[in-house]
Amino acid sequence: MPTIAVVGCGIAGDEAAFAARRADPTARVVVFTAEPDPLISPCVLADYVAGEIPRERTVLRRPGEYARAGIELRLNDPVREWDPDRRELITDSGRFAFDRVVFATGSRAAFPDLPGVDLPGVLSLRTLGDADRMRRAPAGRAVVVGTGLVGVEAAWALRERGWDVTLVGRRHRVLPRLFDEPIAGRLAEALERMGIRLVLGESPVEVLGTGRSERLRTSRSTYPADLVVFGAGQRPQAELAAAGGVPLGPSGGIATDPTMATGLEGAYACGDCAETVDRLTGRRGVFMLWNNARLQGRVAGRAAAGAPARFPGSLGVSTVHAGDRAAASVGLPAAEHRDGSADLDHQVTPDGEITLVIRNGRVVGAQALGNTARLGGLLGAVLRHVQAEPLVRNPPAWAVRLRALRAAGRLKG
Ligand SMILES: Cc1cc2nc3c(=O)[nH]c(=O)nc-3n(C[C@H](O)[C@H](O)[C@H](O)COP(=O)(O)OP(=O)(O)OC[C@H]3O[C@@H](n4cnc5c(N)ncnc54)[C@H](O)[C@@H]3O)c2cc1C
Repeated sequence: MPTIAVVGCGIAGDEAAFAARRADPTARVVVFTAEPDPLISPCVLADYVAGEIPRERTVLRRPGEYARAGIELRLNDPVREWDPDRRELITDSGRFAFDRVVFATGSRAAFPDLPGVDLPGVLSLRTLGDADRMRRAPAGRAVVVGTGLVGVEAAWALRERGWDVTLVGRRHRVLPRLFDEPIAGRLAEALERMGIRLVLGESPVEVLGTGRSERLRTSRSTYPADLVVFGAGQRPQAELAAAGGVPLGPSGGIATDPTMATGLEGAYACGDCAETVDRLTGRRGVFMLWNNARLQGRVAGRAAAGAPARFPGSLGVSTVHAGDRAAASVGLPAAEHRDGSADLDHQVTPDGEITLVIRNGRVVGAQALGNTARLGGLLGAVLRHVQAEPLVRNPPAWAVRLRALRAAGRLKG
């Protein structure tokens, strides 16, 4: 009967624990978490801040569910250190011996090294505690830094709560790692329609204030800011594993193989803290998305329990709501292929817009606005790197319908 210790109870640790117990019902599985609650979903924190869901809907499991599955859950019990030779974890409640360990320690918000970032009133949107602080703050003037997924969601949520919101981005597109123009432009318009002030092409320089945040100075201007939210990036939390000799990859995440095993025998890693291979490009990196973390957790848990398991690679598939517009993306935008090797084909359809990212004549990415379900079909094309030309030359059904509507005079443009 092996003892499997899981460090962290986000979606990766949660999946790993349940998968280990399913694979070996005799295994003792113990999950340590620094949090007062078990699994929460960061993906719905913005909905909670906006008031669209109650706080309890952010918590996805109750402690009783772990007990019923035979999993021991140690809430509020962060692992401080570990001894890889004796195979022991060290927490405030004592030492704990294990046979195998799964690191599922997630990621944390990356704050830039700037004057004033330690002032009260400066935060990110990463934990339930961050979301609680945003909910408690009386509406005023907020500056959100970062136009990626977290920045856009935080800006939307604060605006919904009645804040005056300025969204600042270094790049000249919103959601630059997900969308090319023109879809990025449509999402920017949707944010502006909500009343969010968009400031692109500026970088934060300093948070100013006496005793708390009052203004944010950027490379071009200064904006009033009772609240500054940094939503510009996450870093893998890999320090604990690394302190015991687990090798990290160039991305700073814990290097893993397809069974989510690390370079140290008996130690596995999964989720935002783990470096894996991108299924589309074959490049190694950290891919901080829910579904990647979930699948990696399942593989790590099975492998730690001695069952066969293989992770096929991470996928960059994201969906986003910006005001009244929904959009989805898979793979890198053409503009992010820095060698200029990618091109794009954009089609307007009766129910939205589709962009195909094409490289060497093959589809390597796709973006959808409006009917995001279309991306499901295109995902197969992207995964198989199908030839782009037939898709562009013989437009699929939606484009044919569009031409018919145009011919019938029911659509302009
Ligand atoms: C605002 C926001 C919105 C997002 N929206 C989306 C989305 O729409 N779609 C999507 O795919 N992804 C989204 N993501 C990303 C997604 O939430 C993450 O990829 C996913 O939650 C990662 O899960 P994880 O288990 O690896 O890490 P985490 O959720 O970070 O969990 C790690 C856990 O480990 C605990 N821990 C860390 N160190 C220790 C220790 N030493 N001892 C004990 N416990 C420890 C932490 O307290 C934490 O509870 C979003 C993220 C954020 C922040």
